Amino acid sequence: MRRLGWDRADVILVSGDAYVDSPYCGTAVIGQVLLKNGFRAAVLSQPDVKDPAAFRALGEPRLYWAISAGCVDSMVANYTASGRRRRQDDFTPGGENTRRPDRATIVYANAARAAFRPAKPIVLGGIEASLRRVAHYDFWSDKVRRPVIADAKADILSYGMGERSMVQLAETIRDGADWRGVRGICWMANDEQRGRLPGAVELPPFDAVAQKTDEGRRAFLEAHRLFTANQDPVTAKTLVQRVDLRWLVHNPPAPPLEPNELDAVHDIPYMLDAPPSIRAQGAIRALDTVRFAVTTHRGCYGNCRFCAIAVHQGRRVVSRSADSIVAEVRRFAEHPKFRGTVADVGGPTANMYGFECPRKKTQGACAERDCLFPRCCAALKPDHGPQLDLLRRLRALPDVKHVFVASGIRPDLISADARRGCEYVSALAKHYVSGQLKLAPEHVVDHVLAAMGKPGVKSLLDFKDRFDEASRRAGLRQFLTYYFIAAHPGCTDADMRRLRDFAVRTLRLVPEQVQIFTPTPLTDSTAMYYTGLDPHTGRPVFVARGASARQRQKDMLTLRGVRNEFKK
Ligand code: SF4
Repeated sequence: MRRLGWDRADVILVSGDAYVDSPYCGTAVIGQVLLKNGFRAAVLSQPDVKDPAAFRALGEPRLYWAISAGCVDSMVANYTASGRRRRQDDFTPGGENTRRPDRATIVYANAARAAFRPAKPIVLGGIEASLRRVAHYDFWSDKVRRPVIADAKADILSYGMGERSMVQLAETIRDGADWRGVRGICWMANDEQRGRLPGAVELPPFDAVAQKTDEGRRAFLEAHRLFTANQDPVTAKTLVQRVDLRWLVHNPPAPPLEPNELDAVHDIPYMLDAPPSIRAQGAIRALDTVRFAVTTHRGCYGNCRFCAIAVHQGRRVVSRSADSIVAEVRRFAEHPKFRGTVADVGGPTANMYGFECPRKKTQGACAERDCLFPRCCAALKPDHGPQLDLLRRLRALPDVKHVFVASGIRPDLISADARRGCEYVSALAKHYVSGQLKLAPEHVVDHVLAAMGKPGVKSLLDFKDRFDEASRRAGLRQFLTYYFIAAHPGCTDADMRRLRDFAVRTLRLVPEQVQIFTPTPLTDSTAMYYTGLDPHTGRPVFVARGASARQRQKDMLTLRGVRNEFKK
């Protein structure tokens, strides 16, 4: 700041991650976008919450504090699905998990408030704030918690992808205007302010949804239903929820960035590294994965019930232009550490690049059906052509030796693309796989897949046959890696046995990538886990509860479980 001649920053971003200047790091993106819009943005990375001086290191911001737990919810980052403390943190220099406090959003907000009284407006952001923006079930304390903005005593919460709302907040606060109309934010209102929102949809109050009774669970489910029905930027209404003596106001989502705006976010010349002061503290493992990877799009058509992407990024997929992606990869070559390998060309799901259902932009995503479940919607028309052309262009760049697709892919989209699906699998197997390719069927038993919002196994098996054949033709020995989930609502021990038999007999492997379901806030699966009811049908769902029942499901699928079975 001294070198730049800044006496003060406009916005100070606080993050639970080590600062990495990369488009994969939300703090970097928001900071760079603010800079590009003429605001002075500074970053306090992993400040020591026990040291009040840490929050005074950059002085006080002129406009607002922007506080984030980091790329991952702090409870997910700090604890396994079985509740054990994680020792490793890939976003901390040296890798030791000692820097990110539990419930980091609240802890950082309180520390900022304590360092400067009265504090400038405190804006919460990032995935933790986004997924805890209304009253939500918290797996780690096994109770329904208030919206995080109420617990953190913050002024504003920016949810979803924050470029638009964070810049608009900076502009309105700078101009002394009223920021309460900015889309993509939540704020706390008094009765009078609530009275000025007559068309708002009212969620059942926190007091009601927090009751651990049948009535409370039904109220929770109703709040969840209203919340999810109002997340599309085209159709969503303002939501309000009574929290003690105040109201949470959830403004409609900000529209997603358009392709040219997304290009502009990625056209920023990021350092693709941590600053020297952070590098000196040790290696940041996450950098190995993201430094030379490129994001081609945002959003996801899949609405997998356990996944937070649709809640955070939305159901509309916005793709960057091929020229912008090529230009980003060309810039990799200027980096001293680039050795010619592009580690990933992808997004939430790699093969959703370059095609879109036309109705979403003007009418919003269909409320009454999913785009990919139970089968691919006829309006979507998957087309792997744009991704194939893009990959070919990247592979032809002079300084590029390898281009890999490391993000997961959806086999059902390949089956639904009669024109270029087969060509895509052949090209993938021949050129774009670094030995193994990730697939995430998650399960294979129909009623469990239905609870997850995932399609059946036919497209998976078709893909496996095509991929094995294409690899054989290319003379390459390479593998598919399958990701499975144990203890998802709806899944019994018998279902896990059926999954194990399928893995051993049909896929001919013992799965290594098995996760126990983690109920992250605001997803459908978490609503199922908490209430024991399917939010779509209202019918009771079996839920494996307790650490041992959940671990047992996982063990059935892993080597230990398979060995035990064969011993019998
Ligand atoms: S028409 Fe089909 S692809 Fe388009 S939003 Fe509706 S379900 Fe999704």
